[in-house]
Amino acid sequence: MKNLSVFITLSLAVAAGYCQEYPVEPYPDNIERWEGDGGFSRGFGMTNHAFSFDWFDSHIHLAYSHFPNRLKGQEIQQVMDSWFRMTVVYQSGRAILMDPYLETMEWAKDDPRVYVFWWLKWDQADLLPEIQRRTTRGLIQGLKLHTGDLPRHDYRIMGSEGWQTIYEYCGQADLPIALHLNQHWGDHLYTTGENSKEFWAKAGYTNQQLLDYFLEQIAARHPRTKFILPHMNFQGCDALARIFDRYPNIYTDTSIGMFLREFDSLTPAEIKPYRDFSIRYADRLMFGSDAFAYQPLASDYAGYLRNWWLPHQIFLTQLRLPQEILDKITHGTCERVLGKHLKSPPKR
Ligand SMILES: [Zn+2]
Repeated sequence: MKNLSVFITLSLAVAAGYCQEYPVEPYPDNIERWEGDGGFSRGFGMTNHAFSFDWFDSHIHLAYSHFPNRLKGQEIQQVMDSWFRMTVVYQSGRAILMDPYLETMEWAKDDPRVYVFWWLKWDQADLLPEIQRRTTRGLIQGLKLHTGDLPRHDYRIMGSEGWQTIYEYCGQADLPIALHLNQHWGDHLYTTGENSKEFWAKAGYTNQQLLDYFLEQIAARHPRTKFILPHMNFQGCDALARIFDRYPNIYTDTSIGMFLREFDSLTPAEIKPYRDFSIRYADRLMFGSDAFAYQPLASDYAGYLRNWWLPHQIFLTQLRLPQEILDKITHGTCERVLGKHLKSPPKR
């Protein structure tokens, strides 16, 4: 008998685990209808869930996806107009472009939809005066660095005197730095990530060594500088939480890390860690897609939506986050990270 009750208790626990439901967050105006107008419309529209009407894509690419046939002036305009035309139906109209070219910056300067993070190489640590000039002139709103450029150097070039001076300036100037730091381990075909074996064969360091060096020699030494480690830094929620708890100046974007193919879905057990993490660290999380334009240039190609835009929007939507959290992740945190470089005041 005792064994039976243990069995029943365990079975119930397992069943509860599988059927576990997460709270569905109503769209805020549902609450008005519950009591307002004498409750006449009570229940109407109660399936309208919390949803963001402002998705700011904090991470997209144009220039490097066309290397060596880079896009110029009118072509950039064409692709961006086309992408915004497609994403506007998903309530998105702003994006940060990772780009190395002055021409792109000059084009984007007067477009309130487009922000440019200047993609610098590690041998350009002498460019501080030019970084200052472009920042002051409103040509750039952040910097972008990528450790994919590192293998031919010692990775400690990241902490050279020249770079330390740039990191310090970025703190003073409120200029965020997107630093693609770690790399995924193994191929990641679900998200179209390949070639990691080739990368790791040449790298000469481990992910952990690189992360430790960055945290100790860079993030800790420049507490006023905002560092964005894109792609959830290719880490799980627990590891990222430990970094966020220790370093208040570190942020991440959801690109590649919160990714779900169309018609795929998250199970309740998968939702829980991401939902808890998103609620706790919404002030450090920015929606991003890592979208690429395609070669040859086909700006209307639907693959942009299918491979980059929708997988990231669908994942976040399935977490069923409270309105306030969703608003932070989809645009609020990005606006705060851009700080005084935000081109127009936040929508209300
Ligand atoms: Zn990227």
